[in-house]
Amino acid sequence: MAKCFRMKCPNCGNVVNVNGTGPCPKCSAPLDVNQPAAIALYRMGNFMGAATGFGLYINNQPFGAIANRETLIIPLPYGTYQMHIVCGMNRRCNDPVITLTPQDPFVCLKVHMKMGFVQNTFILERVDPSTMPQ
Ligand SMILES: [Zn+2]
Repeated sequence: MAKCFRMKCPNCGNVVNVNGTGPCPKCSAPLDVNQPAAIALYRMGNFMGAATGFGLYINNQPFGAIANRETLIIPLPYGTYQMHIVCGMNRRCNDPVITLTPQDPFVCLKVHMKMGFVQNTFILERVDPSTMPQ
């Protein structure tokens, strides 16, 4: 199970996988994973026709892709975030809105796909962090 930290550079907007602290590879601005809060996403199993990465958006900003059997941890400041996932022609998603607060700083989301007649819908379901693959 691959696990990585994903951040958007606050300076140039580059989306990058980071380990610990490190400069943005594009503009060299410091990136610090030690944010007060985080959203984790994981994706299990194979979805029909979806072996490739799913595109992840937070507040309409692209945040890279999430691969099959990948766990992404996105360190973030406290705030409210709308999550959205797309894959090819599948652009429907339940678009959950997550609010990160000092009382609720870590939210774990499991990515499902609900099969539909015309198109499929992504479901981001909030789950207990203990269910996250290690
Ligand atoms: Zn940058």
